[in-house]
Amino acid sequence: MFRELRLKLTLINVGVMALLLLLFIIGTFFVMQVQIFNQSQQLMQIIASEAGSGSVNNTREHDKHLAKYFYLKTDESGKITENSSALPLPLDQLTPLVEKAINSPNPKGEVELHDEAYTFLKVPLKQTPGFVITFVDLERDREILRELLLTLSVGGLVCLGLSYYGSRFMADRAMAPIKSSWQRQQDFVADASHELRTPLTVVQVNLELVKGNSDETVASQSKWLDNSLLEMKRMSKLVDDLLFLARADSQQQTLEMKQFPLNTALREVIESFKPLAETHEILLECSLNSEGMYYGDENRIKQLMVILLDNALKYTPSGGQVSLSLQNWGTLAEITVSDTGEGIDQEHLAKIFERFYRVDQARSQQTEGTGLGLAIADWIIRSHHGRIKVSSSPGKGTTFVVSLPK
Ligand code: ADP
Repeated sequence: MFRELRLKLTLINVGVMALLLLLFIIGTFFVMQVQIFNQSQQLMQIIASEAGSGSVNNTREHDKHLAKYFYLKTDESGKITENSSALPLPLDQLTPLVEKAINSPNPKGEVELHDEAYTFLKVPLKQTPGFVITFVDLERDREILRELLLTLSVGGLVCLGLSYYGSRFMADRAMAPIKSSWQRQQDFVADASHELRTPLTVVQVNLELVKGNSDETVASQSKWLDNSLLEMKRMSKLVDDLLFLARADSQQQTLEMKQFPLNTALREVIESFKPLAETHEILLECSLNSEGMYYGDENRIKQLMVILLDNALKYTPSGGQVSLSLQNWGTLAEITVSDTGEGIDQEHLAKIFERFYRVDQARSQQTEGTGLGLAIADWIIRSHHGRIKVSSSPGKGTTFVVSLPK
């Protein structure tokens, strides 16, 4: 799939490049042609007027290109009376050229002699009857233009060849983030399916057991039914989390931004955790002295606190302590959640915000959780333009510090 896409991108790039080069070559060729033509016309004018007044500047007349420009003066009958010092052909062979120019009704034009084209300018002499006719050997101009076209075409082809490799390189670079996001999506789907399979299997096995004991009462089968219910709850939480992240990925997760008192919101969350902390015999402390309003999505900020506090309580053994504090640093609100729990090894710290990452898979199976909590927390913080830092000492505890710009 990606090879095809790379080829497509490369060919589109090369196509655009070819079109631009073609335009450049045509443009350059056209401009050069016009310039050469104008230059010839100007020089013909100068030579004609100088020859007319009898003061031709021979250095310029020869103009390095031997006999490219030459003039001939004639009398009324068309007989050559004077000529420039350098001529492309012997004088007698130029007579047909002069005749054609004289017979032409136009003062300017093109004439041919022995398959060579010349452009001419015919100006009547002022003092005596006759003409001064200036010629330019067009073949030389055409030769220059042909060489220019060849050089531009060869250069263009070389550029096109190079642009193929350049475009391939650029296509590779452009596709790198697409590839990695596609891979992440694939992993996400695979992980989600895997996580859903376990509770589904448990529910299926337990319900089959209930069905096998069809004579028994519901009360006597409550163990299997409770197991099924628990797994259904886990599944429901997992599906909710998956939906949240899927919406976040597709930018459909919207925030309801408004001003709200952050300390009150945090107090509400901590109050809701008190019964759980008491059950687990964990001391829950909070210091929310900092007053002030915060602009954000109150529900999402509460959801973030639920994730962090839930983890802190989950991974802290009985007798431990979990504390929450809020501090204001100018334009920043800083929320700290720390616990005296099992902690996280350094090697896992950077990965715990990844989806479905759980530090100890075997042990995590026993602990309730989906491995998506911190990924959701990370999204909420980023969508509020904040940052989260985590520090931990295995066996001693973990501290999460969330900085949110006000
Ligand atoms: P889970 O649903 O498994 O808690 P999270 O995304 O919330 O998923 O957390 C990812 C992993 O990070 C957890 O499985 C756990 O191993 C580790 N973790 C998170 N918070 C803590 C904490 N306070 N103490 C120890 N480990 C933690």
